[in-house]
Amino acid sequence: MRSLRTWQTEAVRRIEADFNRSADTHLVRVPLPRYDGITLYLKDESSHPTGSLKHRLARSLFLYALCNNWIGPDTCLIEASSGSTAVSEAYFARMLGLRFVAVVPSATAQPKLDAIRFHGGEIHKVDDPRTVYDVAQRLAEETGGHYLDQFTNAERATDWRGNNNIAESIFNQMAEEEYPTPEWIVCGAGTGGTSATLGRFVRYNRRNTRLCVADPVHSVFHQYHRDRRVRSLALGCSSRIEGIGRPRVEPSFIAELVDRMVVVEDHQSIGGMRALSRRLGRNVGGSTGTNIWACAELAREMHEAGKKGSIVTLLCDSGDRYADTYYNDGWLLEAGIDWQGSAQEMEAFLSATM
Ligand SMILES: *Cc1c(COP(=O)(O)O)cnc(C)c1O
Repeated sequence: MRSLRTWQTEAVRRIEADFNRSADTHLVRVPLPRYDGITLYLKDESSHPTGSLKHRLARSLFLYALCNNWIGPDTCLIEASSGSTAVSEAYFARMLGLRFVAVVPSATAQPKLDAIRFHGGEIHKVDDPRTVYDVAQRLAEETGGHYLDQFTNAERATDWRGNNNIAESIFNQMAEEEYPTPEWIVCGAGTGGTSATLGRFVRYNRRNTRLCVADPVHSVFHQYHRDRRVRSLALGCSSRIEGIGRPRVEPSFIAELVDRMVVVEDHQSIGGMRALSRRLGRNVGGSTGTNIWACAELAREMHEAGKKGSIVTLLCDSGDRYADTYYNDGWLLEAGIDWQGSAQEMEAFLSATM
């Protein structure tokens, strides 16, 4: 019988080997001819093995749990997630030969459940979406397992000073650009982990870059950022942009690190997503549309103030997962999302010609 320590050593090796086999994600340059001297860059997180920036988070959560001696060869892993986090965690659980259970609201769409199951994850449905956290915690206790708890651990599981985290990777890839220190970095907040890493890294590296979080209109984060009072939204009020915007202020969202928040309507996110997809020649996800909308606002302000420089944002995932929803005109019509006007506006901003 192998010792726990030997198993953990092998588990860490497998995760590090996965990292070692991976190339860094691309930083895509998008010139904006209509905005003289302002260049947009997209950190393309869709190229991770599990297709989104949650691959980084899952890797960090697993290493954090292993190095805290929280998991061993018989630990059942539990997470409250119906989305990309569960997909990436299922991938790492299978790599280590561990059972993984995702606690999801019963209304979760079938393609998402299929993606979790594809990587070997199991599904535990709950009727009331508010109970996912408690149920995940309880399942962990009952099975003697471990609740990965992305919303609590995202900000602390990531090495914020370096280790090629998303921030360090961006700054390394910007090094030879015309304006290597971005004026702004724009991201969304789901757990808040990515914005926390970016905000800490720029301070530690003494950069003047400011951090902007693009937040869907039905999210509590921007309200909390404004007055530090509102901590949750009324039941039923939830973001329609997958991966970002939450009804409660998650513990990993560190408001002090965010210089600015831009509130984005759903039709703007979808219009932005469609226009950017056309400009790039491939489909991006909804939260990337939210990001691009905030970038346009910041670029316009820089342009009006006669400033030059770079703006970096994230391409969080590809449009593949949203073929039945954000890329389905009928679905958008039924959802009451009137996106065409916003798409036209964004196409003008992104235009490749003068
Ligand atoms: C999770 C997620 C985000 C936000 O990242 P956090 O680090 O969790 O705040 C943005 N876009 C997509 C598609 C996501 O899945």
